[in-house]
Amino acid sequence: MIVIDAHCDTLTTLKKQNRTLGERSNVGHVDLHKLRDGGVNVQFFAIYIEPIYGEERGISRTLEIVDLFYQEYKQNSKQMELAVCSNEIRNITRAGKVAAVLTIEGGEALGGKLYMLPIYYKLGVRCITLTWNVRNSIADGVSERFTGGGLTKFGREVVQEMNKLGMLIDVSHISEAGFWDVIDLSSDPIIATHSNCSNLCQHPRNLTDGQIKAIAKTNGVIGLTLVPQFIAENDPGLDKFLDHIDYIANLVGTDFIGVGSDFDGCDHTISEISNASEFHKISTGLSKRGYCDEDVYKIMGGNFMGVMDRVFK
Ligand SMILES: [Zn+2]
Repeated sequence: MIVIDAHCDTLTTLKKQNRTLGERSNVGHVDLHKLRDGGVNVQFFAIYIEPIYGEERGISRTLEIVDLFYQEYKQNSKQMELAVCSNEIRNITRAGKVAAVLTIEGGEALGGKLYMLPIYYKLGVRCITLTWNVRNSIADGVSERFTGGGLTKFGREVVQEMNKLGMLIDVSHISEAGFWDVIDLSSDPIIATHSNCSNLCQHPRNLTDGQIKAIAKTNGVIGLTLVPQFIAENDPGLDKFLDHIDYIANLVGTDFIGVGSDFDGCDHTISEISNASEFHKISTGLSKRGYCDEDVYKIMGGNFMGVMDRVFK
């Protein structure tokens, strides 16, 4: 079974926590040992551009983390490999290794320059979360949602260029107006790598029923996330997390559901799944709830594989 975690912020926390992907660590959520223990064989590694870098230092910060990723890759090449297409993911996982998909969280990484897209593509980046919570030159993030601001002219160029290159467009964190602009403009399926359902938990980072239906209509996937604040106000645990999967399954079916943990991007996760080594509890939980093997396979990774087959060139 190909098991995909569509979002973690591990790359930007490694240095702060003074650790590497190859060593089993007590502090971080994700390392290669924990991924193996939890049965995760495809990890999206986000290069998260913290607001302090902004667009002025977005490019240099991105390149710094790309370099760090390649150092980790070199050190741990027996256990993991960079994947730039879905067939590579199949080959790498078949060989018993973790397939690493390199992503960017925050369009600040472009520094307002469209020419950075093909450069990042050549470096192996295959997915960009257009905004974090704040405003950038592509669009407004969710914390600026009251402005009603959507995609800028530059943002529209970015979406079109990503379509041309075959890069995944991630709408987690974007303002609602920006979301609808992306839906209207993109010719490719759209993904949300780490967002939940706002009808179950009213948080601006979560998706409305209309947004969930729109992503499904593009043949995209929603990676449901383990961040407690996005699961429930009270007692966010595995059960409440699985409720979000049920909710989308009832709304649009099981073809559009995935998982994006946000490990190492949040201080705490739910108690049952405190780090990547317990990821397998999601599939066990799904089976217990009566999901058939085929649905479990799709939700744990098959759906994200399908969207990568459709988008990657
Ligand atoms: Zn995030």
